[in-house]
Amino acid sequence: MDDNDAQGPAAAGTVLVVGGGLAGISAACELADLGHRVTLLEKRPFLGGRTYSFFDKQTDSEVDNGQHIFMKSCTAYIGLLDRLNVRHKTYLQSRMRVTVYDAQRRPSALYSSMLPAPFHLVLSFLRYRHLSWGDKAAIARAAFAIRRMSEGRRKELDGISFCDWLSARGQSARAIEAFWDLIILPVCNDDSRRVSASQAIMVFQDGFLGGRHAADIGYATVGLSSLLAGEAQRYIEQRGGKVIVGKSLQSLEGDQQGIRCARLYSGPSIGADAYLLAVPPRQLGKLLPETLRKHEFFDRASRLAMSPIVNVHLWFDRQVTDLEFAAFLDNDVQWVFNKTAIYGEDGGQGQRLCISLSAAHKFIDMPKDQLYRLVVDELRRAIPATGEASVTRFIVVRERYATFAPRPGSAAYRLPSRTPVRNLFLAGAWTDTGWPSTMESAVRSGENAARAIATAA
Ligand SMILES: Cc1cc2nc3c(=O)[nH]c(=O)nc-3n(C[C@H](O)[C@H](O)[C@H](O)COP(=O)(O)OP(=O)(O)OC[C@H]3O[C@@H](n4cnc5c(N)ncnc54)[C@H](O)[C@@H]3O)c2cc1C
Repeated sequence: MDDNDAQGPAAAGTVLVVGGGLAGISAACELADLGHRVTLLEKRPFLGGRTYSFFDKQTDSEVDNGQHIFMKSCTAYIGLLDRLNVRHKTYLQSRMRVTVYDAQRRPSALYSSMLPAPFHLVLSFLRYRHLSWGDKAAIARAAFAIRRMSEGRRKELDGISFCDWLSARGQSARAIEAFWDLIILPVCNDDSRRVSASQAIMVFQDGFLGGRHAADIGYATVGLSSLLAGEAQRYIEQRGGKVIVGKSLQSLEGDQQGIRCARLYSGPSIGADAYLLAVPPRQLGKLLPETLRKHEFFDRASRLAMSPIVNVHLWFDRQVTDLEFAAFLDNDVQWVFNKTAIYGEDGGQGQRLCISLSAAHKFIDMPKDQLYRLVVDELRRAIPATGEASVTRFIVVRERYATFAPRPGSAAYRLPSRTPVRNLFLAGAWTDTGWPSTMESAVRSGENAARAIATAA
């Protein structure tokens, strides 16, 4: 397919994928492998979507829009890293280990032992000092119920919050905060009061309790834009596909009988046999043909709420911690990542930290100087050595629409890859993969859509 092609029927097997995030990338790669001629269209000048980094001249370094982590249970995402031959640019723990600090700065680790699941966590759980014995017993009972729960029963719980489900199982506020939300907040980007019980239980079934290695934690050891964007473009082009960046789809043209072409803001329209919209839900509506915008099927997506993430990047003039990353209870900084260690950088005398603030409703509009004071104060409580160091650089990245919010009842708004229009398909972390808004969900959605297109052809 050529973007110089005027409107009209395209050659068989051509697919236009709109959106160069992980969903669009994984769909385009899969379709190219299946022999389709793919065009991937991305409005920004680079691929990667919500996983990107930019260059900061002042510190001569790449800065991620936000710290991204994955787990070993993210098999589709890891599969994409392998497909693009970039896994060596990531690190994956050989056994899950997270150090958690409480308000008194007492460390305690959650880690996986050699025992088979679910016993792999028992030892660290017994030693975990941020919970009382009563809370531990209650958590063990709830974890047992989660492990035994069928998929059907889990789906029935989409209408209630995880917090309500936990409270009905005798979980104290401390158990929720120091255990359940420790995991749910970063993975679902909201706390258990606002996350559907079904979504949260899925996270524990597939991740934390899913197997001895399911929760091993991984991350990129390079900036996110250096991880796979270039390799993805090469992969698609080597298989006869085309990648167009810096051009936006204005809207699709057609009706319920089929999409006829894609009109761009600049340049000729693109015709294809199949069209895949791999864009966030709030952008979906305006890209559809006028006659489909209020269609009941597509309209559901507009009801998905979004949740913000704020990342604060701080450069210190000296080493302030040996930790690679850690979680902090009773503290606004939540999770701290030592980017100097993660990137294997020689920070000279200095050190760079990234503070990841999930469900950042109270931070998203906070003025920069106020946010700076708050983070520096909280960080001093969490890592006292930062109080003696000077901050040499401070960058805030605000992502207002970081993820969809898996609120109670939201499963009904997550659409399948097939639509009522025969040659129009959907992908994106928000579609009905069952996963929360993660890289794994994005990659799965792309693969689902590619399979749907291949079987519909
Ligand atoms: C700060 C932050 C931290 C995160 N942390 C984690 C984490 O630790 N672990 C994890 O698994 N996930 C994390 N996520 C979530 C994860 O990044 C997303 O779920 C995933 O990247 C979404 O991919 P996607 O392809 O579905 O959507 P996007 O990445 O949003 O891709 C959609 C693409 O469509 C393009 N587009 C939109 N409109 C048009 C148009 N008209 N024409 C052409 N192109 C268009 C957009 O520019 C974009 O590139 C985080 C997200 C953020 C923002």
